Amino acid sequence: MAKKILVTGGTGYIGSHTAVELINAGHDVVIIDNLYNSDRSVLEGIQNITGYRPEFHQIDLCERDRLEAFFAGRKDIAAVIHFAAYKAVGESAEKPLMYYRNNIVSTLNLLEAMIGNGVKPIVFSSSCTVYGQPDALPVDENAPVKEPSSPYGNTKQINEQMIRYTVEAGNPLGGISLRYFNPIGAHPSAQIGEAPQGIPNNLLPYITQTALGIREQLKVFGNDYNTSDGTPIRDYINVVDLSRAHVVAVERLMNGHNRQGYEFFNIGTGRGHTVLEVIEAFEKATGQKINYQIVGRRPGDVEKVYADTTYANQELGWKAHKTLEETLLSAWNWEKAYRKNIKAQ
Ligand code: UDP
Repeated sequence: MAKKILVTGGTGYIGSHTAVELINAGHDVVIIDNLYNSDRSVLEGIQNITGYRPEFHQIDLCERDRLEAFFAGRKDIAAVIHFAAYKAVGESAEKPLMYYRNNIVSTLNLLEAMIGNGVKPIVFSSSCTVYGQPDALPVDENAPVKEPSSPYGNTKQINEQMIRYTVEAGNPLGGISLRYFNPIGAHPSAQIGEAPQGIPNNLLPYITQTALGIREQLKVFGNDYNTSDGTPIRDYINVVDLSRAHVVAVERLMNGHNRQGYEFFNIGTGRGHTVLEVIEAFEKATGQKINYQIVGRRPGDVEKVYADTTYANQELGWKAHKTLEETLLSAWNWEKAYRKNIKAQ
């Protein structure tokens, strides 16, 4: 029987790109998503790129019975890559319990269903937010996990710990958490990309929507930080590069090559850019002018964070390859294609 990799949240931004890279690497994919923050049409995008339409189930991982029913009797799930979660930092501060219920109960149900049905490896979608403002930069995996700055960040920490303790308790499970820095960009085909609902929270969709005239003006949150131009520094990683890290991680688990049972890796480029540098690079890559204004700091923002990727480079044999310019161009091409598509519907 052909083995499949289950991707939870597989119609979401990073999940859909990972589904594509898994298929390109020769894996069979099954997607579970509750479509809370994504659309079924993403399956067409995946199919247009790969020529393969993944099996899809609209299931909410918090619905334990439905999840158990999905797993029961299936012997073809070789591994799980778990993306499905709420992800808006600001919203999590307003509705903490909604975030704890959704992001914790889902993983609890998933782990129990996996163990109950003999499904071993799990790759977890984590975040560099677990480091808070690191004491030293670039931040490597030895840096301490800091007091979370939002309920969202706390759910990432708790999820990592749940997976770690479950693995260490000797359950038949291997786990890898990938701590992403700032994922941006889209598949170069512009068939899939980031499609936030409503007003975007993240920098890149705000930039592309401003360039297209959907938003009037980008607000740059603070220019009084201790950086070259005063705006915060982040490590912006191309979503396709990031997706390939998941392929490598899940293959490592399926091949039994993980050393400690539970591992975690920083997934970034190793380079930091200020907000103004990103705007300038976007303007250069696309020829679009961005109307922006400097405003006050956004509460909870850290000053600078970028990855030391040595461990991921050496242990996973993975590296980010794409340039910031081509990544920004891919985000722009996706935004244009996506809006054209919406209009045509
Ligand atoms: N940012 C901004 N204006 C926006 C959105 C973000 O100036 O409308 C800045 C934000 O202050 C941070 C960077 O862009 O310095 C990246 O923010 P994002 O929300 O994309 O990711 P974060 O690093 O906060 O997870």
